[in-house]
Amino acid sequence: APIAFSEQGFVLQGLLKDIPQLAEISFICVTPSACEPGRETSRFIRNGAEIQAGTPLRDRSRDSAFLAAKEGKIYVGAVESAAGISSVPLASRVLNAKNEIVEVLAGKINLNAAIQPIIKAAKLGTSGYVYAVTREGTIIAYPNQELVGKTIQTLPLLDAIASSGASKNASYTSVTGVAVSGAARLIPETGVAVIAEWPQTETKSLIRTILFQIGGFLLLAFAILFIIASSVALKLIEPIAALREGTSVIGAGNFNYRVQIKTGDELEDLGANLNKMAVNLKGLEELRELKLRADLLSESLRKEQELSKLKDQFITTISHQLNTPLTAINWSLAAFDDPKLSKEKMKEVVDIISKSQKDIVAIVNDLVTLSEVGFQYKKSRVTSVDIARVIEKILDFSSGVIQLKDLNVTFQKTAGDAIARVNEFTIMKALENLIDNAIGYSNKGGAVAIELAADEKEIRITITDQGIGIPKEDQSAIFQQFFRARNAIQKKNVGTGLGLYIVKTIIEGHGGRVWFESEENKGSAFHVTLPR
Ligand code: ADP
Repeated sequence: APIAFSEQGFVLQGLLKDIPQLAEISFICVTPSACEPGRETSRFIRNGAEIQAGTPLRDRSRDSAFLAAKEGKIYVGAVESAAGISSVPLASRVLNAKNEIVEVLAGKINLNAAIQPIIKAAKLGTSGYVYAVTREGTIIAYPNQELVGKTIQTLPLLDAIASSGASKNASYTSVTGVAVSGAARLIPETGVAVIAEWPQTETKSLIRTILFQIGGFLLLAFAILFIIASSVALKLIEPIAALREGTSVIGAGNFNYRVQIKTGDELEDLGANLNKMAVNLKGLEELRELKLRADLLSESLRKEQELSKLKDQFITTISHQLNTPLTAINWSLAAFDDPKLSKEKMKEVVDIISKSQKDIVAIVNDLVTLSEVGFQYKKSRVTSVDIARVIEKILDFSSGVIQLKDLNVTFQKTAGDAIARVNEFTIMKALENLIDNAIGYSNKGGAVAIELAADEKEIRITITDQGIGIPKEDQSAIFQQFFRARNAIQKKNVGTGLGLYIVKTIIEGHGGRVWFESEENKGSAFHVTLPR
């Protein structure tokens, strides 16, 4: 039921007592039978500490508060300011048990009183504060009570709020003349803005503190990261270093080396594999050594067999070569048994004996030289030798044969000296062999030319003859031991085939070279170079 008019005052005074922020409260008539709709049926106001009946009772039929509440809305109006007091009108309908609207209860909340304690209690840091203004700039709550009711217009935040209604922040000078950072937010539907201001002296030091803390934190984070990273790296590097050491030691051939890695991961496996490899390599190495020894054994066996073959061949050739003159001497000596041996016949026999004796001497000479030179000659016991003198000496020894064969032998010396540091005996033997061949393989009345040239580095000797020459097919074998060309065997029965072998061994043992050009039945030219 609608509250009886006589009881309405009691209810309203009770509400005013219970809610100190309430500035005014009234019932407005809705039901036409009992009263005039839209007119207040009862009203009370707070006047300082007093609670008084409000007079007169007003017609509020056009009030938006009444109209909205009648429609069922809870009405909260815009802030009103009067005499330094800001208030917000509120209205709500009152329903009976059947949910029918019986009246409207309308009132005003004194914002100063309602918000002031909250504003006073709100703190930002140590010096920041909060206050409330109306959209027009009237301060409705401020920590310092004295500023309540004052109007601020220059605040940039207010301009921004006025134009956009959104929340804003800015730096400016506050009402009290302090540089502040401020932020404002409009409370929707009330026209009240809450502004938070923070003196910049504090925000700056705060920002500094925050930056300092961030810096410190970053430093600490880096330090921790560094310690973790290096300990992880160390853990990783240690086994890798051990592996590297292992591979290089084992690689250098120490197969008894073992790497020790106990990381329990792939690196440990790798270490174990490396050790296995070292074991296998050791086995291989032993095998290789065995094989090497076997190879050496079979090589020395082969060499021995070769040598034994060479020795057999040597003995056969020498005995064959010696056999010819010795048989001739034997036969000739038998002729002396004949008492009727004529003087002419005797001379013939003596000639044969003498020639055979010379052949034997030639063969023995080759053997002596060979035994002296050996198979792998390296020059030794060198002296300064005049090669021109050596050639002249050889020609001196050979003058008999030259005369006998009616040869035209010429010797063309170099303009300068031809002195070389050589072993005189062996060089003499080498040149003697070449000159003897040129004379021996020349036909009667032929010509032999010997040329000697020299520069600071080497001495060059060329021996040219017009003799039987060397058949093309035999030329490649001519420096081999015991080799004799087909036409030489026919021409000169005795010969060991050792001469040119000895020449090559001696000249090359002196660091020189020997080679030839030859054409069968035309002649040959043998060239020798000798380093000084
Ligand atoms: P030897 O003269 O005792 O047969 P060498 O070793 O001195 O042995 O010569 C090997 C072979 O080279 C000779 O048998 C001969 O066939 C050939 N030879 C060497 N010198 C000449 C030369 N000046 N003219 C023709 N053939 C030569």
